[in-house]
Amino acid sequence: MNEVKTPKKPLIFYYAIVIIVLLLLNLFAVPAMMQRSIVETDYGTFMDMTEEGNVGIVEVQSNQILFTDKSQEHIYKTGLMNDPGLTERLHESGAQFGSVIVEQTSPIVSFIVSWVLPIVIFVVVGQLMSRYLMKKAGGGPGSMSFGKSSAKIYVKSTSGIKFADVAGEDEAKENLIEIVDYLHNPQKYASIGASMPKGILLVGPPGTGKTMLAKAVAGESNVPFFSISGSEFVEMFVGMGASKVRDLFKQAKEKAPCIVFIDEIDAIGKKRDNQLSTNDEREQTLNQLLTEMDGFESNNGVIILAATNRPESLDPALLRPGRFDRRVPVELPDLKGREEILRVHARKVKADPNVDYNVIARMASGASGAELANIVNEAALRAVRSGRSTVSQADFEESIEVVIAGYQKKNAILTDKERQIVAYHEIGHALVSALQSHTAPVQKITIIPRTSGALGYTMQVDTGNHYLMSKEEMIEQIATLTGGRAAEEVACGTITSGASNDIEKATKMARAMITQYGMSEDFDMVALETVSNQYLGGDASLACSPELQADIDRKVIDLVKSQHEKAKQLLTENRHKLDQLAQYLYEKETITGDEFMQILNA
Ligand code: ADP
Repeated sequence: MNEVKTPKKPLIFYYAIVIIVLLLLNLFAVPAMMQRSIVETDYGTFMDMTEEGNVGIVEVQSNQILFTDKSQEHIYKTGLMNDPGLTERLHESGAQFGSVIVEQTSPIVSFIVSWVLPIVIFVVVGQLMSRYLMKKAGGGPGSMSFGKSSAKIYVKSTSGIKFADVAGEDEAKENLIEIVDYLHNPQKYASIGASMPKGILLVGPPGTGKTMLAKAVAGESNVPFFSISGSEFVEMFVGMGASKVRDLFKQAKEKAPCIVFIDEIDAIGKKRDNQLSTNDEREQTLNQLLTEMDGFESNNGVIILAATNRPESLDPALLRPGRFDRRVPVELPDLKGREEILRVHARKVKADPNVDYNVIARMASGASGAELANIVNEAALRAVRSGRSTVSQADFEESIEVVIAGYQKKNAILTDKERQIVAYHEIGHALVSALQSHTAPVQKITIIPRTSGALGYTMQVDTGNHYLMSKEEMIEQIATLTGGRAAEEVACGTITSGASNDIEKATKMARAMITQYGMSEDFDMVALETVSNQYLGGDASLACSPELQADIDRKVIDLVKSQHEKAKQLLTENRHKLDQLAQYLYEKETITGDEFMQILNA
C-alpha cells in the first residue's frame, strides 16, 4: 500500500530562513543602500582638479586621499604621492580640509532599518510560529493543546495485502472477512438492525501476522487504512496524547468508511490502578480513547482494529462490549499453517520444485509466521552464497538450524577430548529419547559448534500436530534433557558446563508440571503459579505461602533427580550402543535420524 504523508517542516526550518534573510540583508543590501560609490582616479586628475579649483572637501589619509568635487556629489579616491606643496595648493584652490563622509544614511533608509525591518521580522516569525502551532494542535476548535496524530494513512493500491497473502490463521480470517463484507455492503447489516463491532482486538504472540491481517482487511475492503502504534500516543506532556487521539478520530470520521489500526495498544490501554506511580498522561490518553469509541455511532463505517501481545494487561473498560467487543486470537501456526506460510513465502523465491515443505514445517515447530518468513529468506541467501540458482531442501533445513542455533562456527577449535564429550552428550540425549516410548523421533544430531554458543544439538521432530502434552511425555522429556549430562557421567567419568541449558529447561518443565498443570499428587489441581505474559515467554510468578514454596522446590528437585537417575540407568544398560553411536558421531560430525536408528537397531 502507498503511504501518504503530509510533509512537515520543523520550527527550526523557519528560524533558519529568518536568520539567513537577516544575514543577507546585513551583508549586501544594507551596506549597499548606505554607501555612496567612490570613483578611483589617478593623481594627475587630482592635481588638475586642484588647479582648476574643482575640489570640494579633501581628506588626506595615511594611505590614500579622499576628495569630492565642488558640488560634493561624487567622491574620488587616489593614492598618496610625495608632493610637498600639495597642502598649500589645495588651500589656494579653495578646497576645504575635513573628513569625507563615505557612508551616508538617508533618513528613509535609517527609518527602514531601525523601525520597519524589526517589526516585519517579528510579524513574520510570529505568523510562522502560530501557523506551526495551530497545525500541531489540530484538536477541537479553540483547543490550544499541541498534538496531532501522526497516523500513517495508507490508501488503496494494487499492491495491497490481501487475505491470500496471510497463510494459515483461518479462524482469524473468517472473523475478519465479515468486517470486509460489512464495509462493502453496510446496508445489508443495517437493514436487519445488526451493528458491526466498533473495535476488534487481535491478540497473539509477536510475528503471527496481526499487522498483516489488519492490512489485509483494508486491502480487501478498499478503504483508507490509518495505522498508528500505541506508543506514538505517549507523550511527555499531559494532554498531548489525548489530543492526538482526538485528531486521529476526527480524521477517521472524515474519511469513513475506513479502518483505524492501533498496534501495541497496551502502550496506552494498560489497566488504571491505584499504584503510587500514576501516569496522568497515559490515563488521559486512555480516557480520551474510551470517550471517542463511545462517541461514534456503530454503523458510521469506522472500524477500529488493535493488536497486542498482552491482552491481560488491558483496562477492562477498554474490553467491554461497545468498545473492543470482539477478540480475535492470532495464535502461533500449527503444522498445516506453517506449511502454508512457508509456501506463501517460498513463492517469492526460486525454490526447487521437489522441496518438501511438510518436512520443513515439522522441523520448524513453534515458529511464528515472521520466523518462517525469515527461514525462507535465509535459505535463499544460502543458495546465493553457494552459487546455486534455486533454493534446495538442504538450504531450508540449514536455515532452520541457523534460526534455532545460529550460524556454524567454522573456526571454533575444540580439543579432541572436548569433541568426544560433546559427542557423548548429544548421543546421550538422542539415546535416552529413543529408549523411551513417548518421545519425538530424532531427526538430526550434530556436533558442529554454532554461533549461539551451542557446541552441538539433537533435533527431534514430532510427526504430527501436538496440542496436548501428557504427564508421561513431560516426564520423558525431562529424562531426555538430563540424558546429555548422564552420558558424560556414564561414559566420560566427568561432568561439564555444557548442560546448563538442559538444566534450565528441565527445571522449568518440572516446575510447570507441579505448579501449573496439577501433575503432582500432593497439590492436586491447585494453581500455585500464575502466568503473567502468556504470549511473551510466559513468565510465571509463585502465588502460594512460603511453606508451600519450600515444598514445591523439594518436589521439583525430586522429579528432576529421579529422571536423571533413570537416564543414567538407561545409558548404563545400553553402554555398548552409546559408545558405538558417539564414536560414529565423533567421526561424522553430523548424522541423520535414520543413521542413528540403523546403528541403534543393528
Ligand atoms: P505481528 O503484527 O503479529 O507482530 P506481523 O503482521 O507484523 O506480525 O508479521 C510480520 C511478518 O511475518 C509479516 O510481514 C510476514 O512476512 C510474516 N508473517 C507473519 N504471519 C504470517 C502469515 N500468517 N502468513 C504469511 N506471512 C506471515
